[in-house]
Amino acid sequence: MSIRIREEKCVGCGRCADVCPGTLIGFREKKAHMDYPKDCWGCVSCVKECRTGAIEYFLGADIGGNGSTMTVTEDGNILHWKIRKHDGTVKTIDVNRQDSNKY
Ligand code: SF4
Ligand code: SF4
Repeated sequence: MSIRIREEKCVGCGRCADVCPGTLIGFREKKAHMDYPKDCWGCVSCVKECRTGAIEYFLGADIGGNGSTMTVTEDGNILHWKIRKHDGTVKTIDVNRQDSNKY
């Protein structure tokens, strides 16, 4: 599993680089960039921090993803986890941050 950073959506805020436990994310021309995507172990910390949906997380075949990707966008306390399946369909799961410690 790994991520892909979509440069056209990146605003260079640096939040992803700040939270990556492996310091895998750097910058090129003020855009987030990974030199070694294979080193990513898929913790999704950067995906959750990116406010523009610029980081796509690949859902591997081992969990039934088959090339699907996941991005996160934010609307106040609500996180929208958007799963784009390989057939083009999209499923969105909304999570209220205020409820996140209830489970
Ligand atoms: S998913 Fe985790 S390990 Fe991979 S780049 Fe993002 S923060 Fe780093
Ligand atoms: S958090 Fe998102 S917008 Fe900010 S630098 Fe990283 S990829 Fe770019």
